[in-house]
Amino acid sequence: MSFARDHYDAVVVGAGPNGLAAAITLKRKFRSVLLVEAKETVGGGARSAELTLPGFIHDVCSAVHPLAVSSPFFRQLELHRYGLEWIQPEIPLAHPFGDGEALCLHRSLASTADVLGPDGKAYMALLQPFVENHERLLSDVLKPLPIPEHPFLMARFGLKALCSAKNLAEAKFQSSRTRALFAGLAAHAMIPLNQTATAAFGILLAVLAHGVGWPIVKGGSQGLADALSHCFRDKGGEIQTGITVGSRGDLPRADHYFFDVTPRQLLNIGGLDLTESYRSRLSRFRYGPGVCKVDWALSAPIPWKAEVCRKAGTVHLGGSFEEIEASIRDAHAGRKCVSPYVVLTQPSLFDPTRAPQGGHTAWAYCHAPHGSGEDVADLIEGRIEQYAPGFRGLILAKSSLSPAAMERYNPNYVGGDINGGLQDLFQLYSRPVLSLFPYRTSKKNIYICSSSTPPGGGVHGLCGYYAARGL
Ligand SMILES: Cc1cc2nc3c(=O)[nH]c(=O)nc-3n(C[C@H](O)[C@H](O)[C@H](O)COP(=O)(O)OP(=O)(O)OC[C@H]3O[C@@H](n4cnc5c(N)ncnc54)[C@H](O)[C@@H]3O)c2cc1C
Repeated sequence: MSFARDHYDAVVVGAGPNGLAAAITLKRKFRSVLLVEAKETVGGGARSAELTLPGFIHDVCSAVHPLAVSSPFFRQLELHRYGLEWIQPEIPLAHPFGDGEALCLHRSLASTADVLGPDGKAYMALLQPFVENHERLLSDVLKPLPIPEHPFLMARFGLKALCSAKNLAEAKFQSSRTRALFAGLAAHAMIPLNQTATAAFGILLAVLAHGVGWPIVKGGSQGLADALSHCFRDKGGEIQTGITVGSRGDLPRADHYFFDVTPRQLLNIGGLDLTESYRSRLSRFRYGPGVCKVDWALSAPIPWKAEVCRKAGTVHLGGSFEEIEASIRDAHAGRKCVSPYVVLTQPSLFDPTRAPQGGHTAWAYCHAPHGSGEDVADLIEGRIEQYAPGFRGLILAKSSLSPAAMERYNPNYVGGDINGGLQDLFQLYSRPVLSLFPYRTSKKNIYICSSSTPPGGGVHGLCGYYAARGL
């Protein structure tokens, strides 16, 4: 392996959104920063590729970016100067039902409340204070330690957010359809909806939809990763790809090392000299269920029964609150769910660069047992057929990844867990171990900066930013 120097001020391992964010932050402080990535391209969970047919561009992992567009760190970087373009679908989210009707989260809070009928007032009362102050709320929520800059707003949020999604939905909403809409949002937590603080995910995703939208990246999520890498190189940073780091000896000498990997991987990297007690604490880190992910090249747009779904970037397919709840519970307990809750995006409807003329792309995943090698693409397609009869007839080609295959694609997705570890209330703030500065390992100059650290999963770069800033 040849590096430009024998010694660097800082070396970052892993060029996911958090590794890239750490590298950029470090470059502001230091002269020489090296970023090393196992794959030939940068991006981690923000890569795009022709997974099916030539000219059809698919997001391999992340596709929808409310967290990236609102990330206080990414906003500082002015990534449009490095080629990043956001596209806002007309409607962030649709949630169809079997009878051809659908509920939607519109960009406007008031328009959303209008279509919720008897629940409109309660929806408005729940969300308005947070939507109106979304920047302040997000800057506090997406932080390592809950020492808020806006304590009254956070206290108000905490009162609702600490509820289970089930209790909150039952207490606030009369209609089973509004409850189902909320379940689909809260289900992104990937933990059973009767657990404490699952309401937080539902509230936060709704606030993001109204506050900043749920945009996609023009040309694919790779555009975000490429903009970050251009930004880093522009500041004088060095990137080496195609190097899988198995031991400290694979890297040049440096004053500081940052690892965009999860605890299990860090434990397997040789020569780091971590203490036994720290290794034992890391080994107790808990991972969550996996996902089964499918991408399709289609000959036409998805023929939704509910017309409004054609205007939505993201569609949640799961039916009622109870069905979604059962699907999450099954995946969490390691059971296959025959009627899965599916998160679907249809980027080519809003971004013609994703497919050749007339063609379309679709992206979907469902939760699945941790580590399962079973490909449940057929069950996902069955779910889509329920709301869009004729979907299967449009498939030109597809690509699918079971949870086990997801981990082979990117070792950070241990057992197919896309959040870098379970995000229950305790582990959300004690990731990877309970500490005032959880990014620091037992070795003074070695840090962990992946989504296994606060504020957790998603493409926002804030784990990398806070790790590097707090150095
Ligand atoms: C199917 C799926 C859908 C998702 N959808 C969304 C979404 O729509 N919106 C959203 O915000 N988030 C989404 N996510 C989550 C998001 O992708 C992750 O939370 C995010 O990418 C985590 O960033 P990271 O930098 O911590 O790790 P990663 O993005 O996983 O990057 C880690 C990098 O480190 C490299 N690496 C690992 N080990 C080594 C080693 N030993 N040597 C060298 N390099 C190494 C890997 O190759 C990888 O490039 C999704 C994830 C998946 C899998």
